[in-house]
Amino acid sequence: MTTRDALAAVREEVRRTPAYPFTRIDVPVKLDQNESPWDFPENLKKLATERAMSRAWNRYPDLNADTLAERIGAYEGWDPRGVVVTPGSNVLIKLLTELGGINRTVLTVKPTFAVYELEAMMLGARLVEVPLHDDFSLDASGLEAELRKGGPGLVYLTQPHAPTGHLDREDDVVRLANAASKAGGWVTVLDEAYYQYSGSDYRELARGHDDRVVLRTFSKAWGLAGLRLGYALTTPAMATELQKLVPAFNVNALTQAVVEVALEHPQYVRERAEATVRERERVLKALEAHPTWVAYPSSTNFFLVRTPNAEEAYKALISKGVLPRRQDKQHLLAGCLRVALGTPEENDRFLEAAMQIQANG
Ligand SMILES: *Cc1c(COP(=O)(O)O)cnc(C)c1O
Repeated sequence: MTTRDALAAVREEVRRTPAYPFTRIDVPVKLDQNESPWDFPENLKKLATERAMSRAWNRYPDLNADTLAERIGAYEGWDPRGVVVTPGSNVLIKLLTELGGINRTVLTVKPTFAVYELEAMMLGARLVEVPLHDDFSLDASGLEAELRKGGPGLVYLTQPHAPTGHLDREDDVVRLANAASKAGGWVTVLDEAYYQYSGSDYRELARGHDDRVVLRTFSKAWGLAGLRLGYALTTPAMATELQKLVPAFNVNALTQAVVEVALEHPQYVRERAEATVRERERVLKALEAHPTWVAYPSSTNFFLVRTPNAEEAYKALISKGVLPRRQDKQHLLAGCLRVALGTPEENDRFLEAAMQIQANG
C-alpha cells in the first residue's frame, strides 16, 4: 500500500488543517514568539534543579499535578478544586474544544490566535469569526448576535487580545460573558496569556460560574516557555469535567518542581513585567518618528507595526539580525509585523534596524 492510501485513513478535518505556522530562524535578536527576553532567574534555576533532584524520577508524578494545582490556587486566591493544570495552555485550548466544540460552534474574532482556529478545524467544530472593528476593538453587538443565535459551543474572549495587543473595554467583555450565560450552552473562555502587561484581570468574571474558564500560562511573563505549563481557573464542577479530558500524569515531575519554585518567588515577574511595559512605551514613542511605519498601542509584551510591504520589512529586519513575526495575511493586518519587546539592548537594535528601513520596506 502506498503512503497516500494509508493517509486516506486520516480524518478529512485533520488533513484539511494546516500545520501550526512556525519556522525557526536563528538570529541574534529573537522577537517572534512573545517570550520573556529574560531567562528564569539563575538562583531560582538552581533551587528548582535541587527540587527536581530531590524527587523520584522512576515514579509517576501526581495524577493531576494536585500539589501544583493547590499552589496555583493559593497564588490566585482560587479554590484548588477549580484549577486544571496542563503542559501549556495550548493543551487546554484543545481540551476545551473537545469538551464543548466537537460538532458544535467555536466563536471567536478575526484576526484571532491561530490555535483556536486550528483546534476547531481539526475537531470538526463550526468556526464563526466576527471581524474586529478597524481600531481592533471587539464588535460586541456582532458577537452578541452570534451568541443569541445560540450554541452550544465555545466562545473565546482574549484579553488583552492577540495578535493585536488591544485591551477591550471591560463593559464589553462583561456584556459578552453575560450574553453567553444568558443564551445558554456556551462555555466562555477568557484567555489571559498576557494579563501581567495590561493591568486587567478577569478572574472575578469566572468565579462561581460553571460556564466560564480563565486560561493563564507560565510561558510569557513568568519566563518559563521552555517548561510548558498552563492552567485553567473555573468552578470545581467544570474543572471535574475538564480534568477528565487531561491524559493521566500529564505534567512531568521536573516541570512541577520548577513551577513550584517559581510560585514561591513571584516577585521577579512583576518587576520584569513593569520593565517590559516601560520598554513598550519607549519603543512605541520612538517609532512615531518612523517615516513609513505605523506602530499600534499595545497592552501586551508585543505590538503590531504596519509597514508598506511586510515581506520586504521582514527580510530587511532579519538581515539586520532582528526577527519579528509576519501577520500580514490576516484580516485587518495587511502589511503588519508583530514584534515582541526584548531587553532594552535588543529593543535598541530593533529600533536602529527599523529606522534604516524606509522607502520600500
Ligand atoms: C502565548 C499564548 C498562549 C500560551 O500558550 P502556552 O501553550 O501556555 O505556551 C495562550 N494564548 C495566547 C493567545 C497566547 O498568545
